Amino acid sequence: MLELRDACALVTERAAALPAERVPLDEALGRYLAAPIDARRDDPAFDNSAMDGWAVRAEDTTGAGPDSPVTLRVVGESRAGVAAGVALAAGQTIRIFTGAMLPDGADAVVMQEDTRRDSDAVEILEAAHPGKHVRRRAEVVREGQPLLPAGLEIRAGEIAVAASQGHAVLTVHRRPRVAILSTGDELRDLGAPLSAESIYDSNTHAIAAAVREAGGVPQILPLGADTQPRLDALVADGLRADVLLTTGGVSVGDYDLVHGAFAAAGIEEVFWKVKIKPGKPVRFGVGPNGVLALGLPGNPVSAMVTFEVFVRPALRRMLGDPLPHRPLLRVRLARPLTAPATRTELYRARLEGDVAHPAATGSSADLSSLVGVDAFVILPAGTGPLEGADALDVRGGRGVATSPWEA
Ligand code: AMP
Ligand code: MG
Repeated sequence: MLELRDACALVTERAAALPAERVPLDEALGRYLAAPIDARRDDPAFDNSAMDGWAVRAEDTTGAGPDSPVTLRVVGESRAGVAAGVALAAGQTIRIFTGAMLPDGADAVVMQEDTRRDSDAVEILEAAHPGKHVRRRAEVVREGQPLLPAGLEIRAGEIAVAASQGHAVLTVHRRPRVAILSTGDELRDLGAPLSAESIYDSNTHAIAAAVREAGGVPQILPLGADTQPRLDALVADGLRADVLLTTGGVSVGDYDLVHGAFAAAGIEEVFWKVKIKPGKPVRFGVGPNGVLALGLPGNPVSAMVTFEVFVRPALRRMLGDPLPHRPLLRVRLARPLTAPATRTELYRARLEGDVAHPAATGSSADLSSLVGVDAFVILPAGTGPLEGADALDVRGGRGVATSPWEA
């Protein structure tokens, strides 16, 4: 049976950034640039004022100070969007505001606080050197120069930069489409009547949410009954996505029919069963068009854990994320935990600063252990008991934190 890190590597190494598509700028949030973008214009596009104040010829202000004001004559105004339209001559000044074009003849700005207005004249109370409070044309970036590189994640700041250069459309990697197929005769859709032996399907909803969180687009298939023809048809349908996720039916029971459905659909097996707790029966294969097909265990806790360790990094890579794993954190345990003898345990925990609070129960049958989770403590087989003082590496931040799956 495979170790966790080897199984993870087998999945992630088959996931590559998806082809590019062009999307409106506002829809590019959270996506990764598939092609670099260049500056279309000098930024600033023209010399302009960094302050509200007075545009001057620096040489005219020589010697100016609070006790030795220099008086200049007001000949116009330049405001953002409306230039002065006149040039500055010796002994003159033009009222100017932040972002307004510097008038011809001016080479500096004296800020308002260092001046005294006197009807048609202004007293300058501080000497300016050429360039003072002036934002020079192209000092940020020159037309044609690189603006944002390929591979960069588009967040609010990147949207500001792209918009400032008129990029209304960006070329980004496509989001992975993820087909979700929950299997089990006992499952009912929310709102449907329940018989004594039926239960609500929670996996579809939880996995769809996790897919969205990872940047993917869930495509929910109808519930799969535990009959081979029905499952075969649904699995074949799911292969039109980039990733097919099934839940349930991957163990060794008589009604665990996902194995047969994967085989019938031509999905080549890469592995079945990994030495982890929970999630041991997880199955991974590759479909005819390179579709990644993961048979996650039906138990809702196992489904979520196996999604986190096997599916999420693959989806992040498909989205173009160069760092598909969560960042590493170092934590201490709030209470001791002991690993099972033969499997690596992924123990749900809540993080408080650098302290991990393990869930009350490690039982995978108890869904309450999924509430408030932002970390999985990794307990390698046979280790422990791990005490509170023992430092553990975990991957995290908000969401689920874990120790490095691979590496
Ligand atoms: P299985 O892997 O099909 O043997 O299912 C293991 C356990 O998980 C059983 O108790 C199932 O009833 C339960 N289960 C399977 N699929 C779901 C689901 N979609 N929602 C909630 N529970 C499920
Ligand atoms: Mg089942």
